[in-house]
Amino acid sequence: MTTSKPFPGCIAQYDPNALPVGAAQEIVRQWATPRGHDAPVERVGLFDALDRVLAEDVVSPIDVPSHDNSAMDGYAFAGACLDGAREIDLSVIGAALAGQPFLDTPGAAQCVRIMTGALIPPGCDTVVPQELVAREGDAIRFAASAVQPGQNRRLAGEDLAKGRPALAAGRIMRASDLGLLASLGIAQVAVRRRLRVAFFSTGDELRSAGETLSPGSVYDSNRYTLYAMLRRLNVEPVDLGVVRDDRASLDKALRRATEAADVVISSGGVSVGDADFTRELMNSLGDVAFWKIAMRPGRPLAFGRLWSGPRAGEGESALFFGLPGNPVAVMATFYFIVREALLAMSGATRETLPLIQAVSPQPIRKRAGRTEFQRGIARRDDQGRFVVVTTGPQGSGVLSSMSEANCFIVLEHDRADVDAGETVDILLFAGLI
Ligand code: AMP
Ligand code: MG
Repeated sequence: MTTSKPFPGCIAQYDPNALPVGAAQEIVRQWATPRGHDAPVERVGLFDALDRVLAEDVVSPIDVPSHDNSAMDGYAFAGACLDGAREIDLSVIGAALAGQPFLDTPGAAQCVRIMTGALIPPGCDTVVPQELVAREGDAIRFAASAVQPGQNRRLAGEDLAKGRPALAAGRIMRASDLGLLASLGIAQVAVRRRLRVAFFSTGDELRSAGETLSPGSVYDSNRYTLYAMLRRLNVEPVDLGVVRDDRASLDKALRRATEAADVVISSGGVSVGDADFTRELMNSLGDVAFWKIAMRPGRPLAFGRLWSGPRAGEGESALFFGLPGNPVAVMATFYFIVREALLAMSGATRETLPLIQAVSPQPIRKRAGRTEFQRGIARRDDQGRFVVVTTGPQGSGVLSSMSEANCFIVLEHDRADVDAGETVDILLFAGLI
């Protein structure tokens, strides 16, 4: 897939024990390059193109609209008669409907009844809206000031001109894009194959729904969260279940995952106590670095490349994210470390997350020297400003905080405690997830 290169986590300028979020994102960015020849392009019909990544630029094969047409229901005429006049009298000589053009050229004192979307008849360039006109029989009268020459006419190509780029490769297609392609008469588009992402949970304490909880065991929630976050990015999730905390099981799961997918995501087993055991295994499977990211939640994280063959560099390869076990940390690391990598590998054009500013009416405790992603509830106050308060307890295991919140409060690396009334950055969930 990608040729092996020195693992950038080892670059001297970074301390893997306190890696700033920005530095971790930059390293991941260098590694998560779009797939090349092994990412076959598929042609799909428009109904199947929603949320897919466009593989090629689309150039408009036609003008949209294809001809000048009316923006209003009214009367089409030649606007030159408006010049210097106070009142205009015209006789109606026919009608132009959408799909039924009027093909004759009206004379100087004549006009054509026209409906929205109908072709502007030859010799006409102006449409006076019907509500500004008095009509008696086939005669209409209106004030010359009711309309300017050229008004209420949609010009051919004003939406999209023939030969101009309509959509660029790398675009994740939205509803308007499907409509836009349809308006060009395009029925199929080339899209990237969906990225395959294998995921599993690790932990001997994990139980599945239906099993009884013995003291010290917990239900596995991360797999469901991960599945849902992956679905939202429209990648192809490959669920590998729960893997026990032993070397043989983990080794098997990682090799299977590497063969099956472009990216492998695990949760759990990367904190200090577990790291030695997993580190040894992962080093035998590829180039994997263990980081302590200066972020909360989400401190421990493993990142690198795995190989399915007997040695690193042999067999299939996949990018690997070993996320922490705590449920909120899984979500924070997914959104702020993994998400962009998955989009880049999918071939999508990079977009910066839209942070907005909000006032915090309460003080927020924050330690300088790490980025914190607190869970917030934002709303607009009566002056139209965004105001945000944190949800209750911010522990990295308190998953209800994510369900309650409607945004992350992003407190940047160097920032210390937030005083009441200060401004903070927030990232609204709407649009993100
Ligand atoms: P670990 O990183 O494996 O030490 O896990 C940290 C914490 O997260 C422990 O309390 C685990 O029980 C919990 N945890 C790990 N994996 C999961 C999971 N899949 N679902 C829910 N909790 C988990
Ligand atoms: Mg564990």
